[in-house]
Amino acid sequence: MTTITTHYINGEFIESHGRELMDIIKPTNGQVIARVTLGDEEDTRRAIAAAKRAFSSFGRTTKDERLRYLRQLHKAVSEHIDDLTAVMIEEYGGVARFARLIVESGVSAFAAAEKALQELPLRENWGKTTVTLEPVGVAGLITAWNANALFICLKLASAIAAGCTVVLKPSEMSSLQTRAMVEALHEAGLPKGVFNVVTGLGTVVGAEMVRNPDVAKISFTGSVAVGEQIMRDGAATMKRVTLELGGKSPTIVLDDAVLDKAIPAALILAFLNSGQACAAGTRLLVPKNRLAEVKRAIRDEMRNYTVGDPADPNIMVGPMVSQKQYERVESYIRKGVEEGAEVLVGGEGRPKGLEAGFFVKPTVFVDVKNNMTIAQEEIFGPVLSVITYDSEDEAIRIANDSKYGLHSAVMGTDLQRARRVASHLRAGRVVINNMSDDPQAPWGGFKYSGVGREYGRYGIEAFLEPKAILE
Ligand code: NAD
Repeated sequence: MTTITTHYINGEFIESHGRELMDIIKPTNGQVIARVTLGDEEDTRRAIAAAKRAFSSFGRTTKDERLRYLRQLHKAVSEHIDDLTAVMIEEYGGVARFARLIVESGVSAFAAAEKALQELPLRENWGKTTVTLEPVGVAGLITAWNANALFICLKLASAIAAGCTVVLKPSEMSSLQTRAMVEALHEAGLPKGVFNVVTGLGTVVGAEMVRNPDVAKISFTGSVAVGEQIMRDGAATMKRVTLELGGKSPTIVLDDAVLDKAIPAALILAFLNSGQACAAGTRLLVPKNRLAEVKRAIRDEMRNYTVGDPADPNIMVGPMVSQKQYERVESYIRKGVEEGAEVLVGGEGRPKGLEAGFFVKPTVFVDVKNNMTIAQEEIFGPVLSVITYDSEDEAIRIANDSKYGLHSAVMGTDLQRARRVASHLRAGRVVINNMSDDPQAPWGGFKYSGVGREYGRYGIEAFLEPKAILE
């Protein structure tokens, strides 16, 4: 069995000061596959001190030097796509086809940050005024478990581009994935102390980072509850915060949509990463007069949503990450039934033959009202709510009737109309007709979906402070 007893501080793997142990459980069968030693406040303070020392020189690096480091990071991680994918499948249960995409988008985050930094003026002059964009200082990066490789690379790339040094606290449930990633990043040869990693609990390591006056900024991906706490506790040391939180994203199928295209695309959005995705399109808004057709199209397409061993490239939905997450998803499916929604596909209980792991049945509810719990709360599992509307205005109103505003989608044939609907949606990102991506476009949420943006120049600016020098 693998054991991990070290953290990555000042360019070296050093023994943990914290002594608490945690088991890593394989989600396909519930077996213990590794044991990690969790860091404590002392480990965290050592990492912050290393980052602070490194900042005195790294904070003054030129754009060219940072571009070079980004290229080195890109090269180092590119060489490990296969092993990073394999460990995401093993530890997290990510389905093979999606796990690889996640890892690849993590790797390409370094190249995207390089391009964004090249195009971002770090100094501007007019008259006797000079404005420079300065790195904010030591950045604390705190991440969730559902796309570990991507979160680490994305946050690190923006921080390095800005000239910040970092302390990363990944989810303790991603310890094996983090170790593989840190070993790859180590090969990039960053100066000592620029990048430090402490694995441990959020309430111990994360809380120390939020409290510590030597950390200037927290970039967080996770739940709303923890995001709120970080904002509150960080206020005492005036932390800058970027918060990437949850979602309950709508997909609007307009009445001129071709269902043979729109429904498969909508289901991909809904069941992304086995439904454990912040951007998952978990509310499907369809015209009332097309409901019967929509139901038929969903039933047909759902036959492709096979559940099982995530290492099998034909599998579409893997296990939930943990027993706790399994129970959470099951409780929402129960709640949907209790509140009067109709189960079109799936339902409660483990799929046949998969009783040992944390597998749930991909579930589609119809007859859902937008005020039901399953339409308002983030489930973070493969559960889709189909909601009907009578008019375009009503579709927009329902889509925006959510505490969240992270992502949304519009499907339709008349592009002008789809664009008009998109312009009314209160979300950080709207995709039209498919799940397109652009690594230079901002990512982040309106309302409870967060504060601030990642990706491209928006992501780099989140680690910068403007400074004016006037003569
Ligand atoms: P979580 O909030 O429980 O944990 C996220 C991280 O915060 C973990 O590393 C955890 O250890 C740490 N943490 C916990 N308590 C803390 C504290 N008091 N102080 C500091 N850090 C603390 O979230 P999760 O269960 O790991 O992830 C699922 C959530 O993440 C979902 O709500 C999902 O929508 C969200 N998410 C958002 C995005 C996005 O880009 N917007 C992406 C992925 C996931």
